[in-house]
Amino acid sequence: MGKSSGMALSLNQNIESEVLLPASTKKFLITNKFLIYFLTNHGSFPCYLHRFKKLGSPLCACGLVGDADHYVFRCPLAAEFHLKEPSDEHRKGWFKNLKYDGQAQSKLIQAYKISSGICDRLTQG
Ligand SMILES: [Zn+2]
Repeated sequence: MGKSSGMALSLNQNIESEVLLPASTKKFLITNKFLIYFLTNHGSFPCYLHRFKKLGSPLCACGLVGDADHYVFRCPLAAEFHLKEPSDEHRKGWFKNLKYDGQAQSKLIQAYKISSGICDRLTQG
């Protein structure tokens, strides 16, 4: 657990109520789901599955710790969908912008589809 995961949790307390605004479209709901994965580190990530003993290791197939940030910013297996990582002090503003940036949201969703596929293979293997 690095300090970025603690950061995500404190962000979560501040932003979750905004993220959970009433939604009128399915697309909005799906995007919200992935944004919440990002904030909470809950989702199809090796790190998360490991915590609940569904995986023997928190490591991604690439050999690094597979948390939510890993796929959005760092995993070589999701490189084509990476977003530019903000510094810790700019993270909250960065996330606010993300909510209005459809292109960045699509990349985040694609990166998490890759992580989900990796988790499927890891849990089967
Ligand atoms: Zn990886």
